[in-house]
Amino acid sequence: MKKRVVAVLTSVMLTAVALVGCGSASASAPAPTETKVEEPAVEEAVEDESEAVEEAVAEIGADTQAIKDRGVLKVGVKNAVVGFGFQDTLTGEYSGLEISIAEKIAEELGVDIEFTTVTAATRTELLDSGDIDCVLATFTITDERKESWDFSTPYFTDYVSVLVETASGITKLEDLKDKTVGVSSGSTSAKSLTNAMIEAGFIDGTDFDPDSFDAATWTEGIAYKQYDDYPAISTALSAGEVDAFCVDKSILAIYNTDDRNYIDDQFSPQDYGVATKKGSDFSTFVDDLVVTWLGDGTIAGFISENGLD
Ligand code: GLU
Repeated sequence: MKKRVVAVLTSVMLTAVALVGCGSASASAPAPTETKVEEPAVEEAVEDESEAVEEAVAEIGADTQAIKDRGVLKVGVKNAVVGFGFQDTLTGEYSGLEISIAEKIAEELGVDIEFTTVTAATRTELLDSGDIDCVLATFTITDERKESWDFSTPYFTDYVSVLVETASGITKLEDLKDKTVGVSSGSTSAKSLTNAMIEAGFIDGTDFDPDSFDAATWTEGIAYKQYDDYPAISTALSAGEVDAFCVDKSILAIYNTDDRNYIDDQFSPQDYGVATKKGSDFSTFVDDLVVTWLGDGTIAGFISENGLD
């Protein structure tokens, strides 16, 4: 019961401060000056509190309640992004900032948690199909994506970078002109890199339209090969199938072996948010929590525990 009350109160913190405040103020308010104050005051406090809880419970929408009733929160996470979503191959345990945030959401709901490993290409299908309730998987908030899914307030900002074989001699953005770059399907990477090259004046941007950009067909000054996952891009880089590997720096970290290096530039800030089904009341529930945890230092604590600061 206690867990339920805490979860409920947190979820409505931003919208029902007055209501919650009223319940606790009654409980601790000095007794009225009339006679026989003790009993009625206690009764009133109990009544006020249970009313507050009932009203707060009513604030939990049907989608959120369905997760509570199911007793398990299903979350899509990465399994090879150190510090964000990383799965120990021996124990099967996940760890990282996104894992900690997901676990705390489940704790607020008072339910168990079930992780599903997702990729940039699979995370939205799994959310759409209802296989998972939310995605915490280095998922960048973009205006285009906001048309299809809800995103929480960002909990972390990363940047895009490029990893190359040191022997290639590529050291900076300019050196990527006329090269072929490996990117993941379903990622922002190719568009970000093309935009950065155009802004720096290294390639012609006449035909660049961010709304219709397609990595598969873009060939002006830089070309892309798309892969389903990051290990495949890393293998392609070693095999010389691509000249460079482009994605968020957090994701590149695990593929930065001794004979590779990052180019000097990083660009295109990537704000990571928790994605949920569009229009779901669970989106509001999650966003209220993220906003609260950004404000009270909880997320900053997770960031530093995971060595991301
Ligand atoms: N964060 C970027 C995106 O959402 C890179 C892809 C990824 O997260 O795997 O597109």
